[in-house]
Amino acid sequence: MIVDVGGVKIGAGVVVVQSMIKRPIDEVDRIIEDIKRLKRAGCELIRVSVPNKPSLPYFKKIVRGSVLPVIADIHFHADLALAAIDAGAAKIRINPGNIKKGGLKRIARVARRGRIPIRIGVNAGSIDRRRFATPTPEALLTTVREAVDIFAGVPLVLSAKSSDIPLTLEVYRRMKIFGFPLHIGITEAGPPFRGGIRSGVGLGILLAEGIGDTIRVSLTGDPVMEVVAAYEILNSLDLRRHGPILISCPTCSRCRVDLLRIVNKVEERISDLSLPIKIALMGCEVNGPGEARDADIGIAFGRGTGLLFKKGRVVRKVSADEAIEVLFNHLREGGEE
Ligand code: SF4
Repeated sequence: MIVDVGGVKIGAGVVVVQSMIKRPIDEVDRIIEDIKRLKRAGCELIRVSVPNKPSLPYFKKIVRGSVLPVIADIHFHADLALAAIDAGAAKIRINPGNIKKGGLKRIARVARRGRIPIRIGVNAGSIDRRRFATPTPEALLTTVREAVDIFAGVPLVLSAKSSDIPLTLEVYRRMKIFGFPLHIGITEAGPPFRGGIRSGVGLGILLAEGIGDTIRVSLTGDPVMEVVAAYEILNSLDLRRHGPILISCPTCSRCRVDLLRIVNKVEERISDLSLPIKIALMGCEVNGPGEARDADIGIAFGRGTGLLFKKGRVVRKVSADEAIEVLFNHLREGGEE
């Protein structure tokens, strides 16, 4: 099944990248700016929490000003989901663990009539603890299954997230049987470095097995980092080609330039490039020329100077001090910055 969310197709064979707004919902102008930044980084869908009734006018303004289709994230109150649909949400994420059955049925009726996409977003942290003592795979799958029955006839996307990676893997492998597109993520993964690794492990395994139609990397930090991390995972598996791939060596005692400084500067400057270009920055002549030659553009350093390679050929010699500027001049000339 393909689910159309404001023109973005989930389940059509291309893994869709999404993220979530982290500011209080009344900061409408700043949220609209965040969404522009996220779009530039490659984000394709944005989710916004609608925590209560007073949030609705703000949500409506965000939907109107957003450059991306907006998904409303709803917990506890069915009425909020219905009001978010009225406000123009492109999709609603509901959590069946915290909305009563009667409320879910009311949302399902409206979504069925209007063909409004719904994500049944089960989370290990909010399953009904009166029924399930612990968040086992069975508990998560039963919660999903019961909601799928209630939402029969509605365009659905399913997720059942946990911060426990083996549990997440088991649940998603079994969730394929429902036949709906799957939203994958490792929830509450942590700050960017640790959370990026945890997400890379969990989501990488699922994606390599062909599981996952849309992805959100949940990080404690700037949402743009979530998008960058998502593309890093997808690029690594050759599932998407978006933005630069930066190859750099770890350095060792052979390295005679401050490669870390150069790599950090380059990384900063390429963060909002969308072109799928491979850049290599290497510390010495051991692996440097090979990697730099195989990249679209690269520098293999030696003692204080380096050789700049472009599409496999040496273009010129550069000093460590001028390396970054020369690299970006060449990217510009090639229309690549
Ligand atoms: S490329 Fe050279 S400097 Fe970099 S890790 Fe390998 S041997 Fe060390």
